[in-house]
Amino acid sequence: MANRSAQIVRTSIVGIVANIALAAFKAVVGMLSSSIAIVLDAVNNLSDALSSVITIVGTKLAAKAPDREHPYGHGRAEYLTTIVIAVIVLGAGISSIKESIERIIHPEQSSYEPVMLVIIAVAVLAKIALGRYFKARGTALGSDTLVASGEDATMDALVSTATLVAALVNKLTGLGLEAYLGVGIAILIIKTGVEILQEALGKIIGRRIDSETALAIKETVCSIEGVRGAYDLVLTDYGPERSMGSIHVEVDESLTAKEIDRMTRRIQHAVLSKNHVAIHTVGIYSVNTDTTADDDTAKISNELDKIVSGEPFVLQTHGLYVDEAAKTVLFDIIVSYDALDRGAVLARVANTLKESFPGYKFTMTLDEDISD
Ligand SMILES: [Zn+2]
Repeated sequence: MANRSAQIVRTSIVGIVANIALAAFKAVVGMLSSSIAIVLDAVNNLSDALSSVITIVGTKLAAKAPDREHPYGHGRAEYLTTIVIAVIVLGAGISSIKESIERIIHPEQSSYEPVMLVIIAVAVLAKIALGRYFKARGTALGSDTLVASGEDATMDALVSTATLVAALVNKLTGLGLEAYLGVGIAILIIKTGVEILQEALGKIIGRRIDSETALAIKETVCSIEGVRGAYDLVLTDYGPERSMGSIHVEVDESLTAKEIDRMTRRIQHAVLSKNHVAIHTVGIYSVNTDTTADDDTAKISNELDKIVSGEPFVLQTHGLYVDEAAKTVLFDIIVSYDALDRGAVLARVANTLKESFPGYKFTMTLDEDISD
């Protein structure tokens, strides 16, 4: 963990140094050529250096060890700094669109000095390199904040490229394109800002575990001896490096507490080492082991399969346990969020079962469709 945050800080320092160097370069050339536009552009580079400072602050906060008040760690601080950078990107997009529209309404002939075009070209190359570097490091380190800074730098390069293209077109044909190009790019910047914001907000609100991760964890769990099936995986994201959760497993009804204890610990260790997720609780369903084809357990199981295959909104049933002596049946059922009335689906399944097996009492648990 310390290593990851150290690398994010190092990457951000490269960003700060690069932006300050660009700002200094522009400020000097701006003053020598007495161009206010170039000096103002230098100020923009300083604000980009600020987004790297924000990344460092967020990473430092997030890397703080758990304490009594924050036992889940501080990892979500990174999602907050990503939101701050998304707001900076959105702000840039909104001010670009405002400026461009003003230029369309009140066109003014801009004159580009050759020295200015050279500086813009240098800035474009520097920003493209910085954007690629941030995105590559951010992806490798799992840092959305760095990736967002990379998007920000790429957008800056795009704006400058548009200025450059517009200036060249203007020089060659006399057409004033800058404002129209500006509107297009501003829309692109706003779109990028919204996407970064959605990603970070989604993580704070709590999103569905991606299918790949869920299936990989279930595969690890099912590889442990004694596990007959894994269900109801719940994961809570407390930051890029801290996920914790619970899972339910089916086991033979004949297993002893001692055997279940061993199995549970093996599950926790396996998931932590293979999938880097802390499973805090393993729930247990016992499944019938000594059944023959013509006893009630097999019949109820078959009937349940039949009913479920006729109900498009029922995604899964699990944890079926039939107690023939006590005449009780337990199972869990997952009904899709697409069903308008999940309770009605549940009632329909219950009624069909009761009609087929009037002597039995059915206890069903409606599970949430949390993971694949
Ligand atoms: Zn369940």
